[in-house]
Amino acid sequence: MDDCIFCRIVRGELPASKIHEDAHTLSFMNIMAAHPGHALVIVKPHVDNILDLDDSLAAAVFQSTARVARAVKAATGCDGVTLFQANEVAGGQTVFHFHIHVLPRFTDDRLLPFWPASAPPRDALDAMAARLRSALAGDA
Ligand code: 5GP
Ligand code: ZN
Repeated sequence: MDDCIFCRIVRGELPASKIHEDAHTLSFMNIMAAHPGHALVIVKPHVDNILDLDDSLAAAVFQSTARVARAVKAATGCDGVTLFQANEVAGGQTVFHFHIHVLPRFTDDRLLPFWPASAPPRDALDAMAARLRSALAGDA
């Protein structure tokens, strides 16, 4: 992935303010920060999004994310931490190399809008759970 911004950061071709690195993941500051301390955790190999993430990389990236979240909390003194992770254009993804945002949050910062929610009837929840179980069974 010659042109991918995050691959270029992994290869050291573009600058990044690095926080943490291990064999499978790299963490660095977001250049567009919602709050100071807004970090990104990426997988080192090029993977477009969560739909292509294998189990070992998924484990590695979440382990790094947990460590970075604790560091963000300790270093910024924030009141809370939100993880944000977008996949595909419709999911809000703008850089198509898998990454997790680690966002320091402050009481009443009104940073993220919450979606309008309805409470589906139990039979609708059961029917959707069955569809998802079938999808999982095909993903063994
Ligand atoms: P997404 O919208 O895909 O969830 O998040 C992509 C994020 O990557 C954005 O928040 C954007 O600020 C960040 N970003 C884009 N280009 C660069 C870059 O060159 N360096 C860093 N550190 N972050 C970047
Ligand atoms: Zn990439």
